Amino acid sequence: MNDLYARHRRVLPDWLALYYDQPLEITHGEGRHVWDAQGNKYLDFFGGILTTMTAHALPEVTKAVSEQAGRIIHSSTLYLNRPMVELAERIAHLSAIPDARVFFTTSGTEANDTALLLATAHRRSNTILAMRNSYHGRSFSAVGITGNRGWSPTSLSPLQTLYVHGGVRTRGPYASLDDSAFIEACVEDLKDLLGHTRPPAALIAEPVQGVGGFTSPPDGLYAAFREVLNAYGILWIADEVQTGWGRTGDHFWGWQAHDRNGPPDIVTFAKGIGNGMSIGGVVARSEIMNCLDANSISTFGGTQVTMAAGLANLSHLLEHDLQGNARRVGGLLIERLRAAAAQDSGVREVRGRGLMIGIELTRPGTDEADPDRAAAVLEAARAGGLLIGKGGGHSTSALRVAPPLSLTVAEAEEGAAILESALRSTQ
Ligand code: PLP
Repeated sequence: MNDLYARHRRVLPDWLALYYDQPLEITHGEGRHVWDAQGNKYLDFFGGILTTMTAHALPEVTKAVSEQAGRIIHSSTLYLNRPMVELAERIAHLSAIPDARVFFTTSGTEANDTALLLATAHRRSNTILAMRNSYHGRSFSAVGITGNRGWSPTSLSPLQTLYVHGGVRTRGPYASLDDSAFIEACVEDLKDLLGHTRPPAALIAEPVQGVGGFTSPPDGLYAAFREVLNAYGILWIADEVQTGWGRTGDHFWGWQAHDRNGPPDIVTFAKGIGNGMSIGGVVARSEIMNCLDANSISTFGGTQVTMAAGLANLSHLLEHDLQGNARRVGGLLIERLRAAAAQDSGVREVRGRGLMIGIELTRPGTDEADPDRAAAVLEAARAGGLLIGKGGGHSTSALRVAPPLSLTVAEAEEGAAILESALRSTQ
């Protein structure tokens, strides 16, 4: 155990997730690569945790942050803040939510907490619908609506949460259904739940489950849910913390794969927008956002230096059509990985869209999850110079591939080759 690891173990919580038998200390990055303290170079196929959206050390972001830091880092939202207003204007426009208001937080957890605060106040109900296998953050209330109970089985939530089918499909009774039968079964389940409870405030869902192993429900699931929700006056909150900003390739927001009729009532975001700077937030139409009458702030939400990073990062993303790049390069990558998986009886499926690709590992010839092999593949990939992720909670048999959206074709091929050999060496 190296000295830093020993010190980490002494002073930080045991439950703080740490990858690898001999954890890495990353000291710097550039483009799609990072380097460790020993000078080893890695191709980064996890982009922080989907936080490095454009590229490591993107010059425009570095310049914007250092220039802003040289002027002022934070003056609080008690005063007018130009970069915050500008980023809010851009996100409000991109959200397609009519008369949208944006509230900035410092994390995805706090964004979801705020969405719960808004929805419960607006609908006067503390019952929330959430998806099985979901992950929404680590605060008391976010853990309380997280369906991936493996992640925090001891939590006692202040909310009443009802879990809806639609999140997990790889195993269990729903696995054999085709897309329309699956949607129908999930809608029936939702109706059945609503018939036995007082009206919930909202349904919160990730368009593609992130920590749950990049599992996508069939397109159209949430549009079908929405018809039912509308009939009961229940709000729909899309948690776009992992899926926003073009990551899924075909769409700018993950919800767009599901619902052509218009945006959700509330969208939460975080991760990639700051390219590693801590920006989270909530977008909702003013009628919902303004249902809180308290005079409130989030001390570090909207701080100038993070907003400057967000503006520079978003401009780069849009000007270079990184969503289109995610679609094209992600399409090639998934094909390569599917071809490799066809030779491997322990790969149950390679799924995903854009640069959000999940590889589900099961013990050969069975439906049984194989988290040990996932851990072994992670180690083997690292030894080959590639960093990838895996699912959390009870989804640790899924590998997660989510490079920065500027990934080149050559890098996709290089990473796929390393991953193929990591899969071969662990069969
Ligand atoms: N929502 C989703 C979908 C997430 O994946 C995460 C984190 O992984 C969160 C919320 C919580 O975000 P944060 O870790 O920034 O608090």
